[in-house]
Amino acid sequence: MRMDKRYFESLGVELPRLGFGCMRFPTKDNEIDYDKAREMIHYAMANGINYFDTAYNYHNEDSERFLGKVLSEFPRESYYLTTKLPIWKVESKEDAERLFNEQLKKLNTDYLDFYLLHAMSAERKKIMDKFNLYEFMLNKKKEGKVKHIGFSFHDTKEVLEELIAGRNWDVVQLQINYWDWNEIDAKSLYYVLEKHNIPCFVMEPVRGGFLSSFAPQVERHMKEYSSNSIASWAIRWVSSLPNVAVVLSGMSNMEQLKDNISTLSNFRPLNDEELKIIDKVVEELKNINPIPCTGCRYCMDCSFGVDIPRVFKIYNEYKKTENKEITRRSYFNFLKEENRADKCKKCKACVTKCPQHIDIPGELEKIHRELAAL
Ligand code: SF4
Ligand code: SF4
Repeated sequence: MRMDKRYFESLGVELPRLGFGCMRFPTKDNEIDYDKAREMIHYAMANGINYFDTAYNYHNEDSERFLGKVLSEFPRESYYLTTKLPIWKVESKEDAERLFNEQLKKLNTDYLDFYLLHAMSAERKKIMDKFNLYEFMLNKKKEGKVKHIGFSFHDTKEVLEELIAGRNWDVVQLQINYWDWNEIDAKSLYYVLEKHNIPCFVMEPVRGGFLSSFAPQVERHMKEYSSNSIASWAIRWVSSLPNVAVVLSGMSNMEQLKDNISTLSNFRPLNDEELKIIDKVVEELKNINPIPCTGCRYCMDCSFGVDIPRVFKIYNEYKKTENKEITRRSYFNFLKEENRADKCKKCKACVTKCPQHIDIPGELEKIHRELAAL
């Protein structure tokens, strides 16, 4: 099998459809499992995946160093390397320069193929403007230390338009998948890039694993159609979009890597029947909503720290996917202890504020009991 590649005129490079996202390497004792992760990188390179996307903060700031070590086993021109400026750490122009040099050193390279401002938003645009970071990026390009510049992005269409206006970005990285397309209007962001002819790099195509398994009554639609993995539908869906240059997948084991390679080798865009199946799956998933929380946040803030809408979201997603591992991770790793459901003191201050009339303390108690048993 050989990974499909796409040539992008505006970038002047041919990129593999699948890029290796370097934020979820296999780990051992909370550190990157060097041997397993190295084996995956070698396997990826041998199968045509020669695009690597990392960032300063991934794996407790160790992803860049690890990647630098392993990739030095290959000729520099044989792979594309992307990392991102941790803009939240920039408090002066000198900081940007210092961080950039530190990143090159960790990555064992004297140039980057792509350098992105990390996780841009309206707030972070203020930092960019204050310290002239766009000009900083342009200078790096002029110096030959960076070949292409861009940013990853999490905010509205309006903010995206503001960031693009009057600037020459080569690429933008967006969170695109068939769930977020309508749920958080990711399609508007995608169309902004298409309008400006800026290639889109896609992150979270499987939405952190949410689109990799569903409750049996939902996933049967896909399983009856083909034996392909549930995640492969999501990967093919994004890769079928014409302005998508690279789909990034943060892979944690060989099985995921091999599955992604087989999905994007000899790539076939989804056909009409497959697209209809995805529509059906999305509709059915939307109907699995045991807690009718809309995420309006009228109930917040809870004086005892409970992140009520977040707990309800994790629980609803658990019921849609029935994926225990991802739910455990969302609830026990990504949600801080002080924000979990068991911190509810049943003061009932939130109850009258909820337009959906949810028995918030009662539901929180049941949810914590159920999730703690996973
Ligand atoms: S009932 Fe629970 S969740 Fe609601 S405000 Fe009181 S402590 Fe917070
Ligand atoms: S007020 Fe009700 S619907 Fe709104 S976020 Fe809180 S629990 Fe959800």
